[in-house]
Amino acid sequence: MTIMDQPQSLKTPSIDKERLRKKYQEERNKRLRADGNDQYLQVAGHLAHYLDDPYTPVTPRAPKTDHVTFAFIGGGFAGLATAARLSETGIKDVRIIEKGGDFGGTWYWNRYPGAQCDTASLVYMPLLEETGHMPSEKYAHAPEILAHCQRIGKQFGLYDHALFHTIVESLEWDEAKSRWNIRTNRGDAFTAQFLGMGTGPLHVPKLPGIAGIESFKGHSFHTSRWDYDYTGGDPQGALMQKLADKRVGIIGTGATSVQCVPYLARACKELYVFQRTPSSVDVRANAPIDPTWFSEIATPGWQQRWLENFTANQAGGGAEEDLVQDGWTDLSRRIRAKIMLLPREQRTVQNMRAAFEDSDFEKMEEIRNRVDALVKDRETAGRLKAWYGQLCKRPCFHDAYLQAFNTSGTHLIDTDGKGVERIAENGVVVAGKEYPLDCLIYASGFEVGTEYKRRSGFDLTGRGGIKLSDYWAEGMRTKHGIHVHGFPNAFFVQPTQGANLISNVPHNLTETARTIAMMVQHAQAGGFKEIEVTKEAEDRWIELLLTGVGRMIGGPDCTPGYYNNEGREPGPAARLNVGHPSGAMAYFKYIDEWRQSGQFEGLQFR
Ligand code: NDP
Repeated sequence: MTIMDQPQSLKTPSIDKERLRKKYQEERNKRLRADGNDQYLQVAGHLAHYLDDPYTPVTPRAPKTDHVTFAFIGGGFAGLATAARLSETGIKDVRIIEKGGDFGGTWYWNRYPGAQCDTASLVYMPLLEETGHMPSEKYAHAPEILAHCQRIGKQFGLYDHALFHTIVESLEWDEAKSRWNIRTNRGDAFTAQFLGMGTGPLHVPKLPGIAGIESFKGHSFHTSRWDYDYTGGDPQGALMQKLADKRVGIIGTGATSVQCVPYLARACKELYVFQRTPSSVDVRANAPIDPTWFSEIATPGWQQRWLENFTANQAGGGAEEDLVQDGWTDLSRRIRAKIMLLPREQRTVQNMRAAFEDSDFEKMEEIRNRVDALVKDRETAGRLKAWYGQLCKRPCFHDAYLQAFNTSGTHLIDTDGKGVERIAENGVVVAGKEYPLDCLIYASGFEVGTEYKRRSGFDLTGRGGIKLSDYWAEGMRTKHGIHVHGFPNAFFVQPTQGANLISNVPHNLTETARTIAMMVQHAQAGGFKEIEVTKEAEDRWIELLLTGVGRMIGGPDCTPGYYNNEGREPGPAARLNVGHPSGAMAYFKYIDEWRQSGQFEGLQFR
């Protein structure tokens, strides 16, 4: 569709959309690479030390050879919420198996300075009402979120059974005994009646496959293993005084880099930020939460009301007020307002997509103008502007990142979409120029587009010896994103094929936790040993999912990144990476009714 074809109400005269479309395309084309996900290095073998835990020493323990009712893989929000809900129903022997040295998942590993949640704490942090915790800020910082994970662990007695610094190696269904056999790298060989998987989508750090990466003689680490011994400072944001005489480089300008660069800029003698693609950085407007205000809103059921209100504002639910009021709800509100400008009879899919694009152009122009307003050097400001749709890459929100480039000693080294050319013994080379460095920090993200088995580190062997990797060879197949036929008593706790609410992932997890607790309680009350989805129910769910419009984030025309499989055709399996066709709010309403009916339609209890 060209601007000429658009309905009158969508023409925004001040924005030259054709020029922007052309510019977006040019910038995208600069970044397309034939190697897609293969451009990254797997952190293994001689690079494995990048995975070492800098935060907690590994304590020796005897292997477990017993039986538990429920084993859960992953000690992040998914495992904590599920175990907490199970505990509420009286199931106390839930064993969480976690590769880190404590609970927290992503918040255990990501302790880089400035780390904070990008979704408002009141809806992002799970079980606030149950634990009675009031977040200190609208967007809480990482130490508070990690402490909250520990709070959940303590309150629900989850430390008693947890196995930390433990990596699952095999999971096999024992048909004769109706239970899972679990083996780990610590010699454990125990059984569990039920199994939960909450390994998270972004937990395996990756390194850029830049020539010479192994030759660097200075100090280096990945942002998810921050080396405070080297930098000084702490996760609370204390000045990293040991960097005062250091030349530091950081590769990557995604959501992580946006949060830690202001802290590095303050501390380093010289900071070099190596950029391939700029992030879109919108207003953050963080603020402390006022306890008086909080005591007024925190009436019984408050967190569920806030969750539903945020989701309704985000994903269609006809909310009249916007309790959270942040960048995410603003984005949706603007798109809806554009659609409402269309006369009812003109609200076709094509016109709605045009309204979406129109709203996005306006938002991105605001974000680019913000760069000009905040960054003093014109050339640097120009290079910090993002030329793509806001949902092409993870939107960022920060009130100190752009300003950090006004600090003397902080240098943006833009690679014009090409990426770092080479890493040498003593520095990083871009466009033939070497930047000498004492320390190189990789803010290069996490594996996303790789195989599930490679990221989780294990496969599941279900009924009749079927492997999950084979069953999902042509794409994920589940009912509700939770159950897989042939894998009884195993539950997946993650957003895809469920609500798929990406702007607030914990909401997906806490709802699924509730669903699992109710199913397990039902099984126990009825003396059932097994819960399994029927093939027909799974097929029907997949058919339903495929009636939707597909994903609104990423997209083949977007600049490459993990949202769109690095710009490569993702193959037919990707069409299954979707959520409920009517949106997250519709899914949550549906699943509540499904649970409440007590029928658990589509499942067999045996
Ligand atoms: P990302 O994958 O988003 O960013 C990786 C960065 O490395 C990109 O800027 C990428 O450039 C760059 N890069 C890769 N290879 C090269 C190269 N050869 N030369 C130069 N640059 C290179 O990782 P992050 O850790 O920033 O974020 C991952 C995700 O984690 C986020 O998207 C978000 O979902 C989550 N997160 C959430 C936070 C929160 O909620 N508060 C905070 C931080 C992260 P290019 O863009 O060109 O590929």
